[in-house]
Amino acid sequence: MRVGVLGTGGVGQTLAGKIASLGHEVMMGTRDTKAALARNEAGYGAMVLADWLAENPEVKLGPFADSAAHGEIVVNATAGAASLAALELAGAENLEGKILIDVSNPLDFSQGFPPSLFVSNTDSLGEQIQRAFPGAKVVKTLNTMNMELMVYPTSLAGGDHHVFVSGNDAGAKAEVTRILKEWFGWREVIDLGDITSSRGAEMSVPLWLRLVGSLGTFMINFKIVR
Ligand code: NAP
Repeated sequence: MRVGVLGTGGVGQTLAGKIASLGHEVMMGTRDTKAALARNEAGYGAMVLADWLAENPEVKLGPFADSAAHGEIVVNATAGAASLAALELAGAENLEGKILIDVSNPLDFSQGFPPSLFVSNTDSLGEQIQRAFPGAKVVKTLNTMNMELMVYPTSLAGGDHHVFVSGNDAGAKAEVTRILKEWFGWREVIDLGDITSSRGAEMSVPLWLRLVGSLGTFMINFKIVR
């Protein structure tokens, strides 16, 4: 399958690398390919992009629009505060009719750490993205854990923990559920409901961040017991 991964940070690298390792054709998206390749710093959990691409030569790099056009499925792994701008650059026409897997979080670091959420409670970033791009089938998922667990869930507790999906399109959620299980190895995927259920998934992140602080590790996740 052709997959566009919008985002060159640690999450974009992790998802693009894993998906490409499965034999899919991945194009990673960025604002400005030259500037991205010239960068010699890396964000949290990321490698310097040029070094990462040298180690992952099967992953192509292109502008957001080319990445979105390339993908039969598109992943939004951009900074939450910039996701709407990044998706504008990707272009509504390149997202039309496609599944848009949204792993972003609406984190506001302007007051330092831990961040607050710039949208919550009665709205969510997942909903903002769905409203801005009505032709895309937005499925919010994987935003409730660290990047490594997204694609290697079995590296924690044998995979006995949970991932959520939120979205308005039942077929898109079924396809994303298949991808989560068959590509990444998730055992159980919980459907939270329509895209408004992104609110809960996003609002769980402040709790997750506090748990990271209390327990001293990023290798934690939610397990729902019933
Ligand atoms: P990040 O640093 O949050 O985002 C990097 C990406 O955002 C880059 O591709 C960058 O574009 C783009 N970007 C930044 N400012 C922009 C702007 N003004 N306009 C357009 N695009 C802009 O990367 P990350 O740490 O990999 O996180 C990606 C997303 O995943 C975030 O929403 C984060 O909250 C979420 N998430 C992260 C984790 C985790 O483990 N870190 C876990 C769950 C969810 P360029 O390539 O052009 O620089």
